[in-house]
Amino acid sequence: MVTTRPARNTPDSRPRAGLRRAVAAATAGLLAAAGAVALEPLAPAAVAADGDKPKIVVVATGGTLAGKAGGRDTYTSYRAGTYPMADMVGVLQPELSAFADVEVVQFGNAGSGGYSIAQYHDLTIAVEDALADADGVVVTTGTDTMEEFAYWLDLTVQNKKPVVITGAMRPWAAGNTASESMVLGTDGPANLLQSIRLAASQETYCFGTVLSLNDEVHAARDVTKGNSTRNDTFVTRMSGVLGWIDGSDVIINRAPARVLDCATNDWFTPFDLRTVARDAHKRVEIFYNAQAVGGEAITAWADAGVAGVVTAGTGAGGISSAAGTARTAAARDKGVWFVSTTRTGSGSVSGGSGNIIAGGDLLPQKARLLLMLSRSFTEDIAVARGWFQTLGSPTFDSSALADTVPPTRVVDPEPEPEPQPEPGETGAPTEPGTPGEPAPAPTDGAVPAPGATDGASPSPAATDAAAAGALPFTGGTAGTVGIVSLLGALALAIGATTLWQHRRRVALERGLTG
Ligand code: ASP
Repeated sequence: MVTTRPARNTPDSRPRAGLRRAVAAATAGLLAAAGAVALEPLAPAAVAADGDKPKIVVVATGGTLAGKAGGRDTYTSYRAGTYPMADMVGVLQPELSAFADVEVVQFGNAGSGGYSIAQYHDLTIAVEDALADADGVVVTTGTDTMEEFAYWLDLTVQNKKPVVITGAMRPWAAGNTASESMVLGTDGPANLLQSIRLAASQETYCFGTVLSLNDEVHAARDVTKGNSTRNDTFVTRMSGVLGWIDGSDVIINRAPARVLDCATNDWFTPFDLRTVARDAHKRVEIFYNAQAVGGEAITAWADAGVAGVVTAGTGAGGISSAAGTARTAAARDKGVWFVSTTRTGSGSVSGGSGNIIAGGDLLPQKARLLLMLSRSFTEDIAVARGWFQTLGSPTFDSSALADTVPPTRVVDPEPEPEPQPEPGETGAPTEPGTPGEPAPAPTDGAVPAPGATDGASPSPAATDAAAAGALPFTGGTAGTVGIVSLLGALALAIGATTLWQHRRRVALERGLTG
């Protein structure tokens, strides 16, 4: 089913429980078990009703995907943002309806370069509105600045459901409609179909925004356009893809670090755009360093009221001495904030003090968006510096578990043998093979049933527990000891996790109120 709706939800739009992958529930459960505090209630119902397909909203902005070419064999000469998304989605039928119910929001129809930051702001709101009653959103844009669209959405959308961004390197068709004279070998239909499949799969729940093109899945923070014309243009240089889509198989084998916060409110960024005006975002520019370049651009930007400048430096962030002099003056006299990055395309920049923040391994164009949002949400550069260290460079950190979780397999201690009744007592064995006889000890390396001791039947409690699918350590003396040691380990883990989360929350709250 395909329907088109206006860009904003109507007040009576029907609430709908999102699909949840079992893995997301498992992640939440694991985090809860590890002591994640202040769990928000999980959204109900992980499973759609029989025959109910995931609802995916395509929020379309144009780009080459919607491009009309001069001929069926014309890949580089076309008018971007021409065909309406509803028509293009129609071309994907009936195959698309096999796995998703799709709605379309035609947000705009232009090249990626045609959008302002205020429109970026509106796009975030449109995506959040769509996610309110859909299971996921696919945003289509031109590829030129797709990585910026993606990172903006990643930083601002306040919803854990999948957001997938896609587009095309070759225009869709050369005819009057999207189904007429389709371009030979266009990548648009496949990219659109597979991105909807990815969103419907829920595999990237809690990943933030991901970019899907050419059957690959990339993290918004890390991905960049690496070639002006090739279909495999998108690359994640340092870390590689998150996964890929082979036919109807979505395979995800890596995750952005924020997925670890899936079960808590720590997952959300401080950049809730509903709390600031669409035109509140201040100008931030990028200075590209090269051999002996002048610093006049920095001075002119500062004089024009630019709030921040990202320097794309050489190597680990170096800029020319003229640029350095201009930077010092702009910071001192005009309060301009600077973020230092590298023009090399990968690798980190560290250090930074005063009005200079280290951009970590953010690409200059990504650092610009984080600096822009930082300037919109805080006046305190220390808070912004913290955001660059946390949101800007999120890392997996399990070091807190090192002193609390044993490094080797935890084995239950030998249980006390249960007292055996005397012959003749109720429950005592009589003849071999009669009811009540102990089970034979396992041979040939067979593993005793949970709760069983050598030569003894599983205790009724263990049998009940096994039947109920419970863990073996939930019954018996050994179980009590196991529970006590496990609870001890968990208590320590809870302490470490709580402390870490508390610190992070305080840092984020400081940013919100700062
Ligand atoms: N010029 C186009 C744009 O960014 C390129 C594309 O869509 O791939 O909108």
